[in-house]
Amino acid sequence: MKIILLGAPGSGKGTLAKKISKDFDIPQISTGDLFRAIVKDDSPLGRQVKEIMESGSLVPDEVTIEIVKKRINESDCKNGFILDGFPRTVAQGEALEKITQIDSVILVELPFETIIERLSSRRTCPDCGEIFNTNDYASANCSKCGATLIQRDDDKPETIKHRLEVYENNTAPLINFYSARLYKVSSDKTPEDTYRPVKTFLESLEAKK
Ligand code: AMP
Repeated sequence: MKIILLGAPGSGKGTLAKKISKDFDIPQISTGDLFRAIVKDDSPLGRQVKEIMESGSLVPDEVTIEIVKKRINESDCKNGFILDGFPRTVAQGEALEKITQIDSVILVELPFETIIERLSSRRTCPDCGEIFNTNDYASANCSKCGATLIQRDDDKPETIKHRLEVYENNTAPLINFYSARLYKVSSDKTPEDTYRPVKTFLESLEAKK
C-alpha cells in the first residue's frame, strides 16, 4: 500500500506514520528525517539544506523529488510505503504522479493554536527519532534508546510561525490537488484515537485490493 500523509508540521503525521508502518509492515519515509541525515554529513548539500531547514523554509523541489525517487526505489518499498512530509508543494505532487501510483492520501487535521503548543513542547531523540512532549515525560533522556532529548532548531517559536506560513502557502493547495481521494482525520485527541479510524480505513482498502 502506498500512502501519503498530508498535514501541517506538528499535526501528528510522524506519530501516525510509525503506527501504520508497524501494523501494515511498510516503511515510513520522512523527508524531514532524510534531510536531517544529509545535514549530519558535512557536505556542500548538507550545509545548504541545514540553512534552509533552520529557517523553516522548503528545500528546492528538484533536490527533494530526486531524494524521494531514489528512496522509494529501494527494496524495502516493494510492498508500499508511507510518505510523511512529502509532497509539500503541488510541483512535488505532480512529480510523484509521474513516478508511482498512490493508493491513499490521509489528511491529518489540527488547529494551528494546538500545533503551536505541541511543537513548542516537543522534544526529539536525535538517535532513534522518537518524539516526546515535555508535559508527559519524566526524564530528559529517550525512554527507548537512552539518548539525550533535544529541541529541534525548527521547533523554536520564531521558526514555527514561519513553517506554518509555508504550509498555508505551499502545502495546503495539495488538499485541493488530492480532493477526490482524501481521507481526513482529526488528531486533537490521543495518538491511539487518531490511529483507530485510520487503521479501519486502511484495512478496508487492503481488503478491496
Ligand atoms: P519535517 O521534519 O517534516 O517537519 O521537515 C523538516 C524540514 O525539512 C522542513 O521544514 C523543510 O525545511 C525540510 N523538508 C521536509 N520535507 C520537505 C519537502 N517535501 N519539501 C521541501 N522541504 C522539506
